[in-house]
Amino acid sequence: MSVVLGLRTAAAVTTAKAVAALSRRLGFGGGTALPGLVADALAPGLASRLAAQLGHGCILITGTNGKTTSARLVRNIAQAAGYRPVHNHSGSNLMRGITACLIEATDVRGRLPQPERCLGVFEVDEATLPEAAAALSPRVVAFTNLFRDQLDRYGEVDSVAALWRRALAAFPPSTTVVLNADDPAVASLADACRGPVLFYAVGDTSCAVEQIEHAADARWCPACGREYSYSAVFYGHVGHWVCPGCGRTRPAADVEATAVEQSPGHPLGLSLSTPSGQFDLSLPLMGLYNAYNALAAVSVGIALDVPAEAIQSGVASFTAAFGRQERMTVRGRDVQTILAKNPAGLNQVLRAISAEKGPKNLLFLLNDDIADGRDVSWIWDVDFEMLAGQGVLVLASGRRAADMALRLKYADIDANPPIEEDTEAALEAALALTPEGERLYVIPTYTAMLQVRKLLARWSQRPPFWEEA
Ligand SMILES: [Zn+2]
Repeated sequence: MSVVLGLRTAAAVTTAKAVAALSRRLGFGGGTALPGLVADALAPGLASRLAAQLGHGCILITGTNGKTTSARLVRNIAQAAGYRPVHNHSGSNLMRGITACLIEATDVRGRLPQPERCLGVFEVDEATLPEAAAALSPRVVAFTNLFRDQLDRYGEVDSVAALWRRALAAFPPSTTVVLNADDPAVASLADACRGPVLFYAVGDTSCAVEQIEHAADARWCPACGREYSYSAVFYGHVGHWVCPGCGRTRPAADVEATAVEQSPGHPLGLSLSTPSGQFDLSLPLMGLYNAYNALAAVSVGIALDVPAEAIQSGVASFTAAFGRQERMTVRGRDVQTILAKNPAGLNQVLRAISAEKGPKNLLFLLNDDIADGRDVSWIWDVDFEMLAGQGVLVLASGRRAADMALRLKYADIDANPPIEEDTEAALEAALALTPEGERLYVIPTYTAMLQVRKLLARWSQRPPFWEEA
């Protein structure tokens, strides 16, 4: 494919590359958003022109939870299938982050090497989807789920659903849409799709929980207003649903996990039924929510006609994203860091941890910067109660440590020792209280995660995230 890139494009790319290099040298971080902002100011519409070179087009992945993990799984699957993925791996998922990622992948004149092998794999912020879809004309768009996220960012889930519907109606009919059949808010997007739709779901009801969690957000049918009824709930409002009012029901899955095997300390085992046959997957992560992330990624692979063997080896080679669910050994303790960003996600994490045998050591770090959500009341929707009576060692830290400690107290869990707001001191205390050889779960909100990751990287001699693959 030959794409004519103007002088202005080349100049914008060169400048943006210089900005990225400078930002890295000055220690501002991975230079993930600033170059995109600069380039877009110099040459508006740059992302579209650079993306037009992607020989295999691009994939967009969006949703409240799981988009980073799903996108990384798609990246691995694409790699195993012989594509050269161009992927915003740092998780910078606004338009400027995607632009910066495309700039990073091109040479100084804005040309992609081996464009015929390239496939764009972009994680996209929920509210950025319409803009990203218009700029990038995606081949496949995958949706993970729709939960209440940071309240002050998006308001109600209904407004995000409405935004997605408008975006879907504008997709070309050739775009394949991948939807979670078990999330009614995502499954109902099918009405707005003009092209092919692929549904994924968990069929194995042995993983169901008994009751709807506090964090169930989209429990009411948008068509008739009745509350959904469930024959199985997996987490939040995700499960086998039907509307008793208008009869709207969970669509049949194209890609289904017919059996899910979860045992603490082992990879998740999934038996899949797909349009290209039945096969098994082994996913080195815990929690049923990660089974959904794998299903979304497998469905994208199926939409791209990737053979089962490449899907299996891509998924098996997975390592968790920066701070999302990451393990490292620090001072003889097995430290696992898991990002907490909303009630539904955190409930899943706590459920997986409670299912583990043996002593449990946890450090929660709650901050209230814009990136964390200024309003920390969401912690009252988290079922910390499930940790009560398990003999856990729990520490509360972060700028809102007092709120966290109060929440834990209401759940009959005493934060121990008393509140330590400073991240470094709290991490030191948690490591000291965790016996050598045991696991320490560190569960921070976003900005706390950045601090935790820096400290842990230093103590365990790991490189900063932007130097990793
Ligand atoms: Zn209804």
